[in-house]
Amino acid sequence: MHYEGMIIRPPSEANSIILQVSVGCSYNKCSFCGAYKDIPFRLKDESEIDRDIAFAKRYCTGQKRVFLADGDALILPQASLENIFNKIRANLPWVNRISLYANARAVRSKTNGNLLVLKKIGLDRIYFGLESGADEVLAAVRKGETSRSQETAARRLVDAGLFLSTTVLLGIAGADGSLRHARCTAELLNRIEPDQIAALSVIPLANTDLGRMVNEGCFAIPSAETITRELRELISCITIDRVQFMANHASNYLPLSGRLQKDKQKMIDIIDAAVAGALAFVPESQRAL
Ligand code: SF4
Repeated sequence: MHYEGMIIRPPSEANSIILQVSVGCSYNKCSFCGAYKDIPFRLKDESEIDRDIAFAKRYCTGQKRVFLADGDALILPQASLENIFNKIRANLPWVNRISLYANARAVRSKTNGNLLVLKKIGLDRIYFGLESGADEVLAAVRKGETSRSQETAARRLVDAGLFLSTTVLLGIAGADGSLRHARCTAELLNRIEPDQIAALSVIPLANTDLGRMVNEGCFAIPSAETITRELRELISCITIDRVQFMANHASNYLPLSGRLQKDKQKMIDIIDAAVAGALAFVPESQRAL
């Protein structure tokens, strides 16, 4: 397979065929994100994608899922996406799930009809970076969106019948804004009703504006205990049912996963035990993005 730059994919796509259809992120301004900082965004040539599909046809017959990289593959023109999906279906008929990352801008580039067509020809799952439900936090991290615009975009994915996995970022509001960030984010998630919620904890990367702010003393990352209390507040305030909740990403201080509302009390009990000192947090040296 032909890859450019660092390939990033959700943990649940670990066994997927990673088909890179674009390089970088077309937005690339979030203050905490260092994934594609030095890579100008571009769509990959059709001939490169064709070669990778031909490779997968020959060597990836045991992998039943495809993940389209990079950071916001839904931003590709509709005709290009339909072309790629149709080629995947024709050449890799054993594939039963196609997923990609999308941000709100990419969703706005598609009509509801476009989304329905993509679902019909194979798009199954979208990973959507929500980060926060608090407008001041979204502004501070330069997400380029408001809670309302995030809600509108994410709801359109749900209404199109796509499986929606949302990512939220713990610790990004600092210690003072921590609990409000958790409550606003839970309220936004309750309105969106995603299928899956993945919580990550912020790590200030050296190549990001957030990393520079931390180095210059302009922003302090909250302690493990504060971030864990934030996680507790988030889980407590989520009221939607039958949503998969995962905080088992390597960036987190306390690995957790379960289904809300069924496992809510169990997860809160684990958090309370950790905050009381009965369970150890993941050491800083073992955290990673
Ligand atoms: S967080 Fe997502 S939208 Fe923001 S710069 Fe990174 S890849 Fe792009």
